[in-house]
Amino acid sequence: MTTLTRAGWEQRAQSLVIEGRAFIHGEYTAAVSGATFDCISPVDGRVLGQIASCDAADAEQAVQDARSTFDSGVWSRMAPTARKAIMIRFASLMQVHAEELALLETLDMGKPIGFALSIDVPSAAKAIRWNGEAIDKIYDEVATTPHDQLGLVTREPIGVVVAIVPWNFPLLMSCWKLGPALASGNSVILKPSEKSPLSAIRLARIALEAGIPPGVFNVLPGFGHTVGKALALHMDVDTLVFTGSTKIAKQLMIYAGESNMKRVWLEAGGKSPNIVFADAPDLQAAAESAAAAIAFNQGEVCTAGSRLLVERSIKEQFLPLVIEALKTWKPGNPLDPATNVGAVVDTQQMNSVLAYIEAGQADGAKLVVGGKQALQESGGSYIEPTIFDGVNNAMKIAREEIFGPVLSVLTFDTAQEAIQIANDTPYGLAAAIWTSNLSKAHLTAKALRAGSVWVNQYDGGDMTAPFGGFKQSGNGRDKSLHAFDKYTELKATWIKL
Ligand code: NAD
Ligand code: MN
Repeated sequence: MTTLTRAGWEQRAQSLVIEGRAFIHGEYTAAVSGATFDCISPVDGRVLGQIASCDAADAEQAVQDARSTFDSGVWSRMAPTARKAIMIRFASLMQVHAEELALLETLDMGKPIGFALSIDVPSAAKAIRWNGEAIDKIYDEVATTPHDQLGLVTREPIGVVVAIVPWNFPLLMSCWKLGPALASGNSVILKPSEKSPLSAIRLARIALEAGIPPGVFNVLPGFGHTVGKALALHMDVDTLVFTGSTKIAKQLMIYAGESNMKRVWLEAGGKSPNIVFADAPDLQAAAESAAAAIAFNQGEVCTAGSRLLVERSIKEQFLPLVIEALKTWKPGNPLDPATNVGAVVDTQQMNSVLAYIEAGQADGAKLVVGGKQALQESGGSYIEPTIFDGVNNAMKIAREEIFGPVLSVLTFDTAQEAIQIANDTPYGLAAAIWTSNLSKAHLTAKALRAGSVWVNQYDGGDMTAPFGGFKQSGNGRDKSLHAFDKYTELKATWIKL
């Protein structure tokens, strides 16, 4: 996909124009207050640029503008095929700018450029394209009515949508929301994480170039407790969609209740179990997958396979395979196309992960791999992929989402016990099962309280599969046509003939 070397990427990074301003009604604009904050790269600690620190005054402007744009009908009442064409052009333009978007992502939050380019950007573009293509394939309903009545059940765009997203997949999480939100005809205000605003800010301009009318897609960078809170409390926002931590997700429900009862859809944290039965079809494949499930994206994945549940009879055979597989995941400079573990998003997150590693040791878990900061001389924030053996499910490292490359290994004797441990968590985002027994696979999958269950693989699925959580992992689903539920209101129109 790319022939650039590390030196080539570094050269591009030097000449990259960093835009840090908000995007309202088709134009970049400083925060009303004029305030900015530093955008610091976790790759090497360098200041990349200044980001507009938006607050309630900017939220007010953006919401007013999004509302009047929505009411104008310029997008909300545009012919579906025209809207579709623009969405598809938007996706294509993202691909045209793939290298720039990937580079912004890598510099801003530290993920390896190879993955940013092969996974984040194309997946994000696909989310826009897939939802754009859906526009003229979704039909409304005609109810089964008596002879003299006509009942129409139609979906309407909901109005002003605010999307608040995290920093681990900045572009992809944004596009999982933007795809169906824009396809439905809404006006959107995107609030990227203060830790990773660059790709969202750039994306807004690409959307405009593609023909998304001014005011339909706005971006307000800034902090959660300032602009995020102002948007969440705003009386004229119809829907709030969120990906982030369970703690903030709960707070957003309170804000909605305290304000206008805006609809709130939440994708939150996870502590996903990866269950390996003794009759797994291929232990080597299971081990490689378990390593990838905790090391990919520096473990900063909501569905990270952070609890590895291994049947006791194969534990001594299986764990060395996982340790061996994890050795292939090595921290390195993320601008090197060969790197598969980049920097964690910032020093605060790195210190939080290191504190969990200390807690694991204090609780008596056995550190068998990693456990330390890496590449200190770089000036960036790097952590060695880490494995704890001898973990029990009551330990802090088994209960809390670490959001870093730290794997807890637990053992079980029966399927029933595996299910009990797997479900003993406040979360319910994902789970995986490795077995060659068909009935065991299905029965275990049914018993797991999780929004996604994978069998003999970790992290399967594409745009056709709904994604989201049970329990405190959230509500509602991204991806698939089910996502449209979040961005539309159902209307029943009953006509007497
Ligand atoms: P976070 O909850 O701290 O922040 C997420 C977003 O919320 C950021 O944009 C932040 O600025 C904003 N925010 C913070 N406080 C706010 C407030 N008071 N009002 C309004 N907005 C506020 O999460 P994070 O640290 O950015 O991301 C990591 C978390 O995201 C993890 O818990 C992870 O599991 C979760 N996550 C979930 C999914 C999923 O699909 N379920 C995907 C990726 C990440
Ligand atoms: Mn950053």
